[in-house]
Amino acid sequence: MADEQTKKRKITKQIHVGDVPIGGGAPVTVQSMTTTKTADVDGTLAQIYALAAAGADIVRCTCNEEEAAEGLARIVPRSPVPIVADIHFQQKMALAALEAGVQGLRLNPGNIRKEAEIKQVASEAKDRGVPIRIGVNAGSLDKDVYKRFGGATPEALVESARIELGYLSDVGFRDVKISVKASNVPTMIDAYRLASETFDNPLHLGVTEAGPPPAGLLKATAGIATLLAEGIGDTIRYSLTADPVEEARAGRQLLEAFGLRERKGLDLIACPSCGRAEIDVIGVAKAAQDALGERNLPLQVAVMGCVVNGPGEAREADLGIAAGRKKGHLFIKGNIVRVVPESEMVPALLDEAERLVAEGIEARLAAADSSAAAEAEADRAALISDRGDANHDAQRIELVRRAASRDN
Ligand code: SF4
Repeated sequence: MADEQTKKRKITKQIHVGDVPIGGGAPVTVQSMTTTKTADVDGTLAQIYALAAAGADIVRCTCNEEEAAEGLARIVPRSPVPIVADIHFQQKMALAALEAGVQGLRLNPGNIRKEAEIKQVASEAKDRGVPIRIGVNAGSLDKDVYKRFGGATPEALVESARIELGYLSDVGFRDVKISVKASNVPTMIDAYRLASETFDNPLHLGVTEAGPPPAGLLKATAGIATLLAEGIGDTIRYSLTADPVEEARAGRQLLEAFGLRERKGLDLIACPSCGRAEIDVIGVAKAAQDALGERNLPLQVAVMGCVVNGPGEAREADLGIAAGRKKGHLFIKGNIVRVVPESEMVPALLDEAERLVAEGIEARLAAADSSAAAEAEADRAALISDRGDANHDAQRIELVRRAASRDN
């Protein structure tokens, strides 16, 4: 799947933010932004480390005053990921951030509007090999462009980026990525589609001011995922009104779901549960998420409510557990390897997950309890004989309909 996604992606020009490549077929990256005061060096670094652990490849910090720029000078050498300075209104803060050693700048064309100032920043950035993101935002669009297009339309957002790109090109600056964010999802999608047709620069995707989860997560995913599915986008940011760790985690999980990044941590899947469930699937899935999430093992793990359909439906998962007749049936790639009492389901899952990561699938399949498959099959058969086979629903429904339509 990863290869198919890579083939479909639009190949843009590659730039580097520090040692992280963006565009040109490089893996799509995750970005997030700190919410601490940048002058608070320890607090900001703690958040940067948390963001990196959650999946952020690049972190942006505001650089809105001299103390923030001084903070950046201390943060950059200690950060585990490249740092981008977020600049609004004051070009001198961009120059100060460059002096602090940041690996990227984000300029908002809507509020740094003097051509000479933009060119001065670009020249300084060029001398240092620091890339710039032209970060157009529907909410702070250049006033003249807004007037000309009669609003923050997709065409207006792209035009604002095009004007800014022209200023940067004039001084021979080419290390540019572009974003054309809007909080309205259809506007954002159309703006990025147009940007992708217009520029060969890498695109930074985001739905701006998406709001708090879960609605914010849905909005951001609707916009970002639609574009990624079309092969558009080189780096992404979820703009949530939440702990930024949630942004980084969501970004990483979206890319893993698309097969655009290798799985770095746990992917817990669970059946939605139904009347056939032999356990409280929601409760067991939550307990498994808590236990396994702490270890963050790079596995797809399934929690299935019944042994009748569970192991088959989740046969693609690395590891899973299905309930039946007060027991847990542990399976690896659909093969039953162990049967444990229901009360031990979660500890057994955790134990097997750790062994699986340490020893590998083949070794764990070879170490399977030889009687487990037969025991699971017996439990499965007993449940089917008690309640019927869900795989034969269609036949049963036909019989029900015939019975219901009888005259007497
Ligand atoms: Fe229902 Fe079993 Fe499927 Fe879960 S695995 S949805 S309990 S049939």
